[in-house]
Amino acid sequence: AVTTGQRMHLQPLPAFEDNYIWLLRDDGGRALIVDPGEAGPVLAALADAPAPHAILLTHHHGDHVGGVAELLERWPGLPVIAPHDTRIATANRRVGDGDMVEIGPWRFEVLGIPGHTLSHIAFCSRNAGGEGLLFCGDTLFSLGCGRIFEGTPAQMLASLRKLAALPGDTLVCCGHEYTLANAAFALAVEPGNAVLRERAAQARAQRDAGQPTLPATLASERACNPFLRSNEAAIRASIETHTGRSLDDDIDAFAELRRWKDGFRA
Ligand code: FE
Ligand code: ZN
Repeated sequence: AVTTGQRMHLQPLPAFEDNYIWLLRDDGGRALIVDPGEAGPVLAALADAPAPHAILLTHHHGDHVGGVAELLERWPGLPVIAPHDTRIATANRRVGDGDMVEIGPWRFEVLGIPGHTLSHIAFCSRNAGGEGLLFCGDTLFSLGCGRIFEGTPAQMLASLRKLAALPGDTLVCCGHEYTLANAAFALAVEPGNAVLRERAAQARAQRDAGQPTLPATLASERACNPFLRSNEAAIRASIETHTGRSLDDDIDAFAELRRWKDGFRA
């Protein structure tokens, strides 16, 4: 069942060191482009394809928006759908939390997910005949989460909870191939998690075979990702051992877990 539905229409394009630009194609090969940090990989992948439907942007960082201007030269008038943020000058349509975006055969709900940046959004779809899709930029990674650059730990935790509440078969399409490094940290935090061990081994095999570790299902992330599990007793105990003090509340636990990861070297 893994190759049914949307998965066969999805393609993570490697960019820079460890970014993914996501392409989602309809039955006629027309693409939707998500977070094109550079244009080259997109132009190469779509050389023989019909003109794309649109570009979706999750947040303003250069490694997610840097290729837009060049793609607009190739396809003038292409819709560029982005969060309300003046730092994204190339956008021509703005969306925010709760908005619906219809593009070709897809219908996306926009989710405001501040934390990594304040204006960060995700695009979530659930179409007939396929799993849900979640384009979540640098907020939720497989086995990890983004650094908190502009928001607070409380905002980031609320954003991750919003994503974690989506259906379990949702395919998580995030902006970076960080899974192996994240797995090393996740195993340090929760060594007794057998499902995590299995996922870490799978990710290692995928990378050894030159394949992406993404997309991952949200069900797998809920079972393995420590940042979606910071309230589990075993994880809280781990955080308390690491910090050497008892934790106040959920936000304290999450903030300390994120801080631990910031300084972690496998
Ligand atoms: Fe990024
Ligand atoms: Zn970013």
